[in-house]
Amino acid sequence: MDENHPDGFLRHSREPIGKRDPHERIGDYREIYAPSWREEHLRQQGERCMDCGVPTCMGGCPIGNLIPEWNDLVVRGRWREALARLHATNNFPEFTGYTCPAPCEPACTLAYNADAVAIKSLERAIVDRGWEMGWIRPEPPLRRTGKRVAVVGSGPAGLACAQQLNRAGHRVTVFERDEALGGLMTLGIPDFKFAKHQVERRLDQLRKEGIEFRTGVEIGPAMSLAQLRERFDAVCLAIGAQQHRDVTVPGRELAGIHYGMPYLTAENRHQAGRGNPTIDAHGKRVVVLGGGDTGADCVATAHRQGALDVAQISVREQPPPTRPTDNPWPWQPRIYEQTYALEEGGRALFALNVTAFVDDDGDGVVDALITERVKWTLDAQGRRKDKTVLEEDIRIPADLVLIAIGFQGAQAQAFVDQGLKLDDNGTLAADETMMTNLDGVFASGDARRGASLVVWAIGEGRDVARHIDIYLMGESQLPPSLQTLTSPTDD
Ligand SMILES: Cc1cc2nc3c(=O)[nH]c(=O)nc-3n(C[C@H](O)[C@H](O)[C@H](O)COP(=O)(O)OP(=O)(O)OC[C@H]3O[C@@H](n4cnc5c(N)ncnc54)[C@H](O)[C@@H]3O)c2cc1C
Ligand code: SF4
Repeated sequence: MDENHPDGFLRHSREPIGKRDPHERIGDYREIYAPSWREEHLRQQGERCMDCGVPTCMGGCPIGNLIPEWNDLVVRGRWREALARLHATNNFPEFTGYTCPAPCEPACTLAYNADAVAIKSLERAIVDRGWEMGWIRPEPPLRRTGKRVAVVGSGPAGLACAQQLNRAGHRVTVFERDEALGGLMTLGIPDFKFAKHQVERRLDQLRKEGIEFRTGVEIGPAMSLAQLRERFDAVCLAIGAQQHRDVTVPGRELAGIHYGMPYLTAENRHQAGRGNPTIDAHGKRVVVLGGGDTGADCVATAHRQGALDVAQISVREQPPPTRPTDNPWPWQPRIYEQTYALEEGGRALFALNVTAFVDDDGDGVVDALITERVKWTLDAQGRRKDKTVLEEDIRIPADLVLIAIGFQGAQAQAFVDQGLKLDDNGTLAADETMMTNLDGVFASGDARRGASLVVWAIGEGRDVARHIDIYLMGESQLPPSLQTLTSPTDD
């Protein structure tokens, strides 16, 4: 084999690590991905990378992962070095290697007129091997600075921030209101998308590096920001953006209508042996409102619970199967791609707007949704502006409705009452150093940028750690994320 591989993409076709058969995986809560792969297969996939002069894939990755470097190291069998390059930009590559929608891939040069490099598969394979080989170990700091930092929230942003600051020598305590650590990685994303032992082994690493965790403590009500600032030299708020968006139409008060998040959280707790699901889809006709990640996870969970029928409704029109002319490479494609959840069953219904929930038999429980078929005009940013109603009174039977239409900012009322300012979209307002209007109180992750992706949360955690380090010490050796502010892949 020629170790240089400019023509690898001509010799090998794209073959990402596969998923388990939908009929099989729907019967359990184990991860949906194929558990193993052949080394030769991965080397060939790495060979497909051309090591382009301008690696647009890195611009597509929100943290600027050094993709061509680790692709090449896989080709050369230098897995441990590949792992080091992965960790250079990402504290938890398995969080992204399993859950990331991989915006790097449509930005890959090959995606211009061929199939992209299987970047996410290679990322996952490298970090999986790192764990298998025992290469991922605690890295406690060599010296301590004497400074103390409180991180509020233990999602990927809080954990990345904590690990970076601890490695810079500060004493870090993470406060988490839930009984479990990991934020949405643990209580939002289902086990079959991301097994919880993957969070646990990272937490074990963080504890051994010297980070202290305190669960069941809701900062705000339990301890004010002022009290926290008295005890710590700086505070990072990484509290997520879990304020639900609602569907305010007649009948909303009926039983059988729930937000998707508590539904998923209850099943995650059940899988972890902490109680039974409080909302059960077994034998029910389920309607999921919302076409995003949360909606997909609700569909897949309902199937595993034994739902009779599952429909997923989106208010948006179905995107086209191929890129429209105003959406060229390397921008993120606005095309329809079937989700893993719909591979397993269920119906996707598009361009339906819910106008009411109805209770036919007067028992106080929802029996159906009334919807209208709509067509949208979009503004210059592609956001929905005006609608035309094409058809009214479309009835969809339902015994259980799960609302998963997104989030509208951080759950931060207690902090607002203590003087913290929010942006118009309900997220924590912060300056260019990620500091809020309160001195020494910083904001990071979904709480700052709005509900987003795991990869963005990790990047935000790394960036805020660097800003906090500079605030405390006047300078920092911590690297910023390699997020490209003027990415060639931005639409
Ligand atoms: C169902 C679902 C599925 C998703 N699937 C994907 C996916 O497949 N891929 C992907 O990239 N992204 C996915 N996301 C998005 C992703 O999970 C988030 O973008 C990411 O977890 C944000 O990280 P974070 O650390 O900012 O916040 P979070 O993960 O929300 O963590 C915030 C933490 O702060 C805690 N907290 C809040 N207030 C307080 C307080 N006052 N005191 C103490 N603790 C507090 C919360 O309990 C929580 O643990 C999904 C989101 C959901 C809801
Ligand atoms: S973190 Fe996501 S976008 Fe970045 S390289 Fe990995 S899969 Fe691609």
